[in-house]
Amino acid sequence: MEYVYRIDEDLCKGCGLCVSVCPKHVLEIADKVNTKGYFPAYQARPGDCVFCATCCRMCPDVAITISEAEEVSPPEKG
Ligand code: SF4
Ligand code: SF4
Repeated sequence: MEYVYRIDEDLCKGCGLCVSVCPKHVLEIADKVNTKGYFPAYQARPGDCVFCATCCRMCPDVAITISEAEEVSPPEKG
């Protein structure tokens, strides 16, 4: 199963909770502000993410979503 990981950076308030709870140290706080003036979290090491969803559960602003990737069917011939 493939997953799509997404942080809605404009919902993020940069509290850093997700960064501190990630068991794989995937997340960091960006050095550029979002539209609300907060420094949002981002996946600095996405390849290390194990999609445990701990960060999603911790985020008070529900900025992080993990969803199942849709299966892309191969293009039809003809
Ligand atoms: S899903 Fe788990 S491993 Fe991936 S960033 Fe969130 S807490 Fe870290
Ligand atoms: S827990 Fe949520 S609001 Fe806090 S830094 Fe992470 S994504 Fe942003």
